[in-house]
Amino acid sequence: MALEAEAKHMVAQFEYTAEDVNKGVKEFIREMEEGLEKQGTSISQIPTYVTSVPNGTEKGVYLAVDLGGTNFRVCSITLHGNQSFSLQQTKVAVPRALMEAKTAHELFSFLAKQIESFLKAHHMDHFETHKNKPGEVEFFDLGFTFSFPVNQVGINKGRLMRWTKGFNIEEAIGQDVCGLLQKEIDALNLPVRVAALVNDTVGTLMARSYTSPGKTSTLIGAIFGTGTNGAYVEKLERVKKMKAIDEAEGGVPNYDSSTGLMVINTEWGSFDNALSVLPNTQYDIDLDRESVNPGIQMFEKRVSGMFLGEILRRALLSLYKHPDAGVALFKDTSSLDNDIRSTTTVADDSPLFKTWGIDTSFLSIVEEDHSDHLRITKQTLEKDLKVEAASTEDCVAVKMLVHAIGKRAARLSAVALAGVIISTNKLQEDEIVDVGVDGSLVEYYPGFEEYIREAFREIEGIGEDEKRIRIGLAKDGSGLGAALIALVAHNADQSM
Ligand code: ADP
Ligand code: MG
Repeated sequence: MALEAEAKHMVAQFEYTAEDVNKGVKEFIREMEEGLEKQGTSISQIPTYVTSVPNGTEKGVYLAVDLGGTNFRVCSITLHGNQSFSLQQTKVAVPRALMEAKTAHELFSFLAKQIESFLKAHHMDHFETHKNKPGEVEFFDLGFTFSFPVNQVGINKGRLMRWTKGFNIEEAIGQDVCGLLQKEIDALNLPVRVAALVNDTVGTLMARSYTSPGKTSTLIGAIFGTGTNGAYVEKLERVKKMKAIDEAEGGVPNYDSSTGLMVINTEWGSFDNALSVLPNTQYDIDLDRESVNPGIQMFEKRVSGMFLGEILRRALLSLYKHPDAGVALFKDTSSLDNDIRSTTTVADDSPLFKTWGIDTSFLSIVEEDHSDHLRITKQTLEKDLKVEAASTEDCVAVKMLVHAIGKRAARLSAVALAGVIISTNKLQEDEIVDVGVDGSLVEYYPGFEEYIREAFREIEGIGEDEKRIRIGLAKDGSGLGAALIALVAHNADQSM
């Protein structure tokens, strides 16, 4: 019981109350509006040069690649029109060494090689004809989903502002990432043109808008995967800083301003870096201090897949190291499980002792566990963390912490979504507000959407209207979305 009491005490530190949520939303809206006015703000509010959304009648074959943080995906998308499409894709994990490579060439040539393999596997004719009779085949337009903060200055041009999610290649900062990829594609002589730079959030927004039921176009595309971020449709007149940006890029807008809309990539991962409203436990503080980018992406560090496992690991470790053996986690030998008195052991090389040792999928498994005596949690502790014979009391404590960390993340996610919904006044303008989401966390963490909805109902300015917010998974959304943006870019280019 002593362990349970201590775990409860820790859980309380992760509590994020209705009052906190409302304070968070107010600050989120303030930072959003500040970001529309000037450059260099906490929430960057980056114009994406996408000024319209697809209507479902588009056709053609497009390539899309996605560097998301954990994986690199290559796909080709055939748009059939009538809101349907087919897709072929491959996925490889990005080697850790490349994430912190010395040169941009090392990472980008790896990416180009994956595109080459994909073409050989799925578009061999096209690939061969181009090699043998250059000039005969049309180039594929490719949408490059690059999910890191870039300062975008055109539909296929953007300079990397900073790395996130554990990437750190100094040399690439400030460079045009489309140019870096095109250079490596050209070096391999592939019939591919990098037509559009796509943030995964914008891709998600476009894909959801193309496939979502009814006439309602989508307001937000949001990612809850390795990292977290969102893009949304803003009224161009509200993007006060646009004029200054246009002037810096030559005076004339290089986008279609007649729609009166501009899709904005918020980069909300860096919401409240000053920690004026975000919750902050000792585990958050330690994680940040030992991260590659202390003091930035503070919202993301409390919300996304890359970090939740590590927050949990730190919490579990502190409970394991509790000076009072009667309280400490994984030390209790006094409880009887199924009449077997067992001694719990934690292997010396347990991932519990290694930074990033716990993957966020571990949290999903534990959150989902409703078995007798938390048998599944016990097995997962053994398999993933090399903890032998954890007691039921241990498992209960682990589960309590998992739940607290996961729920806090979902409630924080609600702050960002609600901030955009309220700031754009969409609930007043439309009957249904549509939100497309993507990422393993929102897809697999049990109850993530329900915790978001619960928080929505507590928010001034949403409350009962939570029912009118429709959230849909935009599965494979970034691929489809990137293809759609490549198409839009191609068409815009043709008409210029
Ligand atoms: P990316 O962000 O690269 O596009 P994903 O959307 O798949 O990729 O997100 C990967 C992140 O999601 C990783 O941080 C991983 O720990 C986490 N994750 C993977 N599986 C699960 C799961 N079942 N439940 C919760 N989080 C998960
Ligand atoms: Mg992704």
